[in-house]
Amino acid sequence: MVDVLPASPSQEKLRAELFAHGLLIDSGVPGVVGQGAAFVEVLQRVDAMVTKLAAVDRPERMSFPPVMPRSLLGASGYLRSFPQLTGSVWSFHGDESAAAQQADRADRGEDWGVHQRMTDVALVPAACHPVYPAMARRGPLPVDGVTIDAGAALVFRHEPSEDPARLQSFRQREIVRIGTASTVLAWRNDWRARANDMLLGLGLDVVMEEANDPFFGRSGRLLAANQRAQALKFELLAHITEPNRTAVASFNYHLDHFAVQHGIALSGGEPAHTACLGFGLERIVVGLLATHGLEPAHWPATVRTALWS
Ligand code: ZN
Repeated sequence: MVDVLPASPSQEKLRAELFAHGLLIDSGVPGVVGQGAAFVEVLQRVDAMVTKLAAVDRPERMSFPPVMPRSLLGASGYLRSFPQLTGSVWSFHGDESAAAQQADRADRGEDWGVHQRMTDVALVPAACHPVYPAMARRGPLPVDGVTIDAGAALVFRHEPSEDPARLQSFRQREIVRIGTASTVLAWRNDWRARANDMLLGLGLDVVMEEANDPFFGRSGRLLAANQRAQALKFELLAHITEPNRTAVASFNYHLDHFAVQHGIALSGGEPAHTACLGFGLERIVVGLLATHGLEPAHWPATVRTALWS
C-alpha cells in the first residue's frame, strides 16, 4: 500500500463539494480525478490567459506526450533528486502461461508486478523536461536565445493525497527561456510580476515566496538549501484551504544545469542558461472555485470578464 498524504478537514470538505457538484470526478485513487464540463471550461480560460500574457515573448509552441524516454530521468538528475515522485512505465513481458498467471493474480487482488518489466518510457515529471533535449538536438541557439511554450502538458508526481489541489496527474502550463544568464534571469523576474498580476486580477489571494523543490534524502537537504541561498526558485502561493497556502505557479532558474546535462550551446559555443515557469492549471481552478464559489456563472463580474474576454 502507498502512503496517502493526509488531508486537513478543510481540504476534505472542498474535495467532497467538488465531487458533489460534478466539477471533479472521483476515480477511487487519491489524486487521480476526472474533470466535469464547468471545470474544463475554466481551466481552458486560464490557459488562454497565459497564452495572451506570453504573446509578447513570441514563444515557439511545442507539444509533447505525457511520456518521455526513461533515459531523460537520469540525464536530468531527476531520478537522483526526486526518486519518490518518479513514475516509470512497466509492461507485460512473458509467455502465455505467464499472462494467465498475471491475470489470475490480478483477479485475486494480488501483486502482479512480477510479470512486468520496465519499458523505455517514463511519465513526464515536469513539462519542460522534453524541451531541453529537443533544443540540444537543434544545435547552437540564435544570439537572443529561444522561448519555448510547452503548452498545458500532463505531468505526473507520485504523491497520492486527498487534497483536491494536490493531484498525481495534472496539467502544467510551462514556458521555457534558454539564452544567456542575464537574459533568462530578466525573463524569469519579469514573469514573476506578470503572473502575480494575473492571479491577483482573478481574485486569488496570492503571495510570492522563495521556495525549494522537495529534494529527496539527506543530500537533498543540501540541494534545497543551495537552491534557496541562490534564489533559484520562487512560487506564487494561493490561499485555497486551511491550514497552509498552496503553490499555484513557480519561477525557476536552473543556471547551466540542464544546458550542460543535455548539451545546449549558445551561438558562441558556451553552455546556455535556462529558466522555466509553470502554472498549475488545476490548482488555479480549484483555487478560483474555493475563493469565488462552486458556480462560475455567479463569480464576480471582474473575474468573469478577465476569464471570458
Ligand atoms: Zn520546468
